[in-house]
Amino acid sequence: MTELKICHLYPDVLNLYGDRGNVLCMKKRLEWRGISCSVTEVPIGERESLAKFDLFFIGGGQDFEQGLLLDDLRSGKGEDIAAAVRDGAAFLCVCGGYQLMGRYYETHTGEKLPFIGALDLYTVGADERLIGNFAFESEFGPVVGFENHSGRTYLGEGVKPLGRVIHGSGNNGEDGTEGARYLNCFCTYSHGPVLPKNPALCDGILAAALTRKYGRAELVPLGDLSEREAHESVLKSLG
Ligand code: GLN
Repeated sequence: MTELKICHLYPDVLNLYGDRGNVLCMKKRLEWRGISCSVTEVPIGERESLAKFDLFFIGGGQDFEQGLLLDDLRSGKGEDIAAAVRDGAAFLCVCGGYQLMGRYYETHTGEKLPFIGALDLYTVGADERLIGNFAFESEFGPVVGFENHSGRTYLGEGVKPLGRVIHGSGNNGEDGTEGARYLNCFCTYSHGPVLPKNPALCDGILAAALTRKYGRAELVPLGDLSEREAHESVLKSLG
């Protein structure tokens, strides 16, 4: 039986803008194709072996909530997450969850939050927030979403952007990059949730997880009528 085990990390703390809808979307798109899927929530303070999971989701959170996680990450969970990335597990990390995968986040008030360094990137906050619907071009075609962040993220060597900004700000509003891609780890500033209106991105992440586990991914095409309408309407509104 084909099955993916999804781990939703920190659903109690990193849960802005209905980001958990991404987990529902991944689950549904697997089940519609007859692929089983389990979802395990791992909140703050709970420790379990992460090696058994195929796919991880980490949502967004405000600076305050990100600070609350530091002790939990230091307790060994940060290293477990980084090990899962190195091991090729698939990840989708959104905004605050994206920043957490990097080396550190220096907030706009000057507080330095040491993060897990699973990806070679860092984030520096600024007073002016980068807010609004935005779009970027990715290997899965155009992706539409909503961004709201103070942090400006800069990618190190070996980490590719997830895409190139078409409208909006993306990683830092300066270099035209948006998000990050490293091994099977996909990171984006797009809240929303991002996956229901970007089915090609969702399937790309599912395919990465399936290929790692089974050596191949068979994802039969779905109708995606509403999904495409939602996607097109955001793209159109951006001009
Ligand atoms: N606290 C981070 C920032 O403002 C992330 C915010 C978010 O997840 N929306 O940059």
